[in-house]
Amino acid sequence: MRGFQWTRDTTEHLVFAETDNLQTSRTWKKHSWLVSQQNLGQFPSDENTRVHNWRIFTNKHHVHVFDSDVEENLKSPWFFIHGSDPQYGFHDYKSDYPNMDQEIQITEKLVQKINNMNPRPRFFHISGDLVNVFPSSNYHIYKLEEETFKKIFGKINADIPVLVACGNHDVGDSPTQEDLDIYKASWGDNYYSFWCGGIFFLVINSQCYIDSHNVPNCARKHEDWIEEQLRVAREKKSSRVIVLQHIPWFLKSADEPNDYFTINNPIRNAMLDKFVNSGVQKIFCRHYHQNAGGVYKDIEIVVTSAICGPLGEDKPGVRLVKVYENKIEHVYYCVDDIPSLVTL
Ligand SMILES: [Zn+2]
Repeated sequence: MRGFQWTRDTTEHLVFAETDNLQTSRTWKKHSWLVSQQNLGQFPSDENTRVHNWRIFTNKHHVHVFDSDVEENLKSPWFFIHGSDPQYGFHDYKSDYPNMDQEIQITEKLVQKINNMNPRPRFFHISGDLVNVFPSSNYHIYKLEEETFKKIFGKINADIPVLVACGNHDVGDSPTQEDLDIYKASWGDNYYSFWCGGIFFLVINSQCYIDSHNVPNCARKHEDWIEEQLRVAREKKSSRVIVLQHIPWFLKSADEPNDYFTINNPIRNAMLDKFVNSGVQKIFCRHYHQNAGGVYKDIEIVVTSAICGPLGEDKPGVRLVKVYENKIEHVYYCVDDIPSLVTL
C-alpha cells in the first residue's frame, strides 16, 4: 500500500516523502499532527484556538445540530447561504508555499458580511474546493490551506453552522482511500443528510461520479446511501428535497455534451431521473466558477460562481437562498453587496 512519511532532514526541517510501507503510512498521521502544531505557531493564539476548536457538524452521515423531528415540520420563512471554492492556495498554486493573501482578504470580508446579517442564516454551506492542493499529493500544503480555511471561517458567529461538502480539490480528481480518510479527519463525513426548516437536504460526494476506480466500495456505499435517502424522501410525499454538491450535472441543459465541468452521461441522465422521481426540487452546485444553470423536468440546477477565483464576469460572491412554504428563491451576491438586512 502506498503511504506517506514525514521525517526531519539535517537542518531539522520536516520533509515529506512517499513510501510503500503500510506501517509508515500509519505513523504519518502522528507526524502530520506535529507539522500541524508547527504551522499553528505562525498564527496569533486566538487564531490557533479557532483552528483547534473548528466544529465538525456531521456524524454518521447526519448533521447533529438540527433536530429532525422539529425541523421537518417547520413552515416559517428562513434562508441559508450557499458558497464554494474559497480554494485557499488557488491564486499562487505554482509556488512551493503558496501565498494565500488574496483568498484571505476576500474571505475575511465575506465572514464580516455574513456575521452582520439580520436575521442570521440558518447555516452557511460551502460546497467544495475548500483548499486547492489535493490532500495526498502534498499533505503539508494541504494542512496549511486547511488551517487557513479554519482560521478564517472559524470567525463566523457560533450560531451559524458552517457545513461543507467535498470538491475535486478536497479529495483529488481520482480519490484514493487515503484522500477520503484525510478529508474525513479534517472535515467530517463526505456525504450526509439533514432536515432544516421543512426541507430535506442531501449533501453528496460528486467525485464518486467523476472517477471512483480507486475506491469502488466507497462509491457503492455512497450510492446505496443515496438510494436510501431518496426512499425516505419518496415516503414523505409532502416533503421538499434539495441536493447540495460540488460538480454540476450540467451547466445549462441536460442534453449538452460531456464536459470537464460536469458529471457526464450516461450517469447524468440516470441520476437526474432518479432525483426527479424522488421529489428533488433544486440542486445547488459549484465547480464552474461562473453562474449558470437550467431546468430538467421538475428540477432546477443552480450553478454558482466562486468565492475566490471566479472565471466569468461575476465578482467573488455567494448565493442567498430563501425558503418559503410554497417556493424557494435564490439570488447571487458579490461579497461587497451581501445585504445586512434580509427580508423574508
Ligand atoms: Zn472544483
